[in-house]
Amino acid sequence: MNAPRIAIVGAGIGGMAAAIALARTGAAVAVYEQAAALGWVGQAINLAPNAVRALDGLGVGAAIRGTAWRPTMRLSRDWQTGAITSRVEMAESAQQRYGAPMLTMHRAELIGALGAALPAGCLRTGHRLAAWDESGGEVRLRFADGTEAGCDLLVGADGIHSLVRQHLFGPDRPAYTGMIAWRMVVPAAAVAAARPDIDLTPFTKWWGPTPQVQLVHFLIGGGRDLFLFATLPAPEPARESWSQTGDAQVLRAGLAGFHPDARALLEPAREAYRTALYDRAPLAAWSRGRVCLLGDACHAMTPFMAQGAAQGIEDAVALARCLDGVGADGIVAALERYQRCRHPRASRIQKTSHENQFLKTQDDADWVYGHDAWNVPLAA
Ligand SMILES: Cc1cc2nc3c(=O)[nH]c(=O)nc-3n(C[C@H](O)[C@H](O)[C@H](O)COP(=O)(O)OP(=O)(O)OC[C@H]3O[C@@H](n4cnc5c(N)ncnc54)[C@H](O)[C@@H]3O)c2cc1C
Repeated sequence: MNAPRIAIVGAGIGGMAAAIALARTGAAVAVYEQAAALGWVGQAINLAPNAVRALDGLGVGAAIRGTAWRPTMRLSRDWQTGAITSRVEMAESAQQRYGAPMLTMHRAELIGALGAALPAGCLRTGHRLAAWDESGGEVRLRFADGTEAGCDLLVGADGIHSLVRQHLFGPDRPAYTGMIAWRMVVPAAAVAAARPDIDLTPFTKWWGPTPQVQLVHFLIGGGRDLFLFATLPAPEPARESWSQTGDAQVLRAGLAGFHPDARALLEPAREAYRTALYDRAPLAAWSRGRVCLLGDACHAMTPFMAQGAAQGIEDAVALARCLDGVGADGIVAALERYQRCRHPRASRIQKTSHENQFLKTQDDADWVYGHDAWNVPLAA
């Protein structure tokens, strides 16, 4: 049996996780990324226990633990009264219950750890996929610079605006959620100096008066920095960008009715990044022939469960498990199996994230955090 040649388009979190997992099956993996170098957008990321457990199996868990923060709990609080409405123990409890803790970190630390674990020589930066076709038993890729490459399987890990998805299933557009997300990092010491009584160690979500208004905070950088994420309703901006900034004073005014403890966290913030939030309804199919989708390319979702990247990492593990021991002639059936394994769970999480009620008042986190991507039985 010849090892299949697998081309992954997109070196985001999903694409890199897939490259590491697929190379372990013996496949010859190439990752094509349009950017000139590995980079990241966004400041921080919360990796839920299901994501950390999957990353542990990829061998990157030790690297991210070195700099990450381990939240003591995952708390929900009422915006007005401050009452705790849901509490899930994290750290040691999550380690025992889910096999891994929750970890919060700078995005650059996760991207760096995944990049360092990539199989040697597999990353081809500066390669923007422009088109492909399936003929003569292989997939032929054409890049914007005129170069070409052949493979037995194309994995579209090219994000929310996926070209691969559009070529497979036709043009479409993600739906604007009506919300702008504000992201900012403040020194934890500045908050602690002003309000030493506020416990910054848990991951905390303050639920606002409507599902469109919320404030989330967690420590990153080993506890040095406090990351703040908030949303406010707003009309759709003309241009979508992760690097647009806004005055934190506008956010403070938008959250003026929040509990004093929540407002105190925003005090040191001066400038914030603003990002319009988009999501999608679940797709009917994730693959056709020898081409499949992975990560945001097939299940972009709102960030309210902190599961977007987690689901892409779970996809990567499942795809590798479905392709393990499969030659080039078994690829189509393996991709159909991958979809049967992953579609129900990712779609359920996509819908739940859209509704934005997860862990608002209940403590039932097990169905999300307890998933073990490496050992869950594969669908027939
Ligand atoms: C505000 C916000 C906060 C979030 N917080 C969390 C969180 O705390 N926890 C969590 O788990 N998730 C979170 N998410 C979701 C998470 O960021 C995404 O789900 C994840 O980054 C998607 O990874 P991906 O690899 O699928 O796609 P992407 O990260 O979008 O990567 C796609 C890659 O493909 C490349 N590409 C695109 N087109 C081409 C082409 N034609 N040719 C070559 N390369 C191409 C791009 O340059 C890019 O590098 C959050 C999302 C948002 C918006």
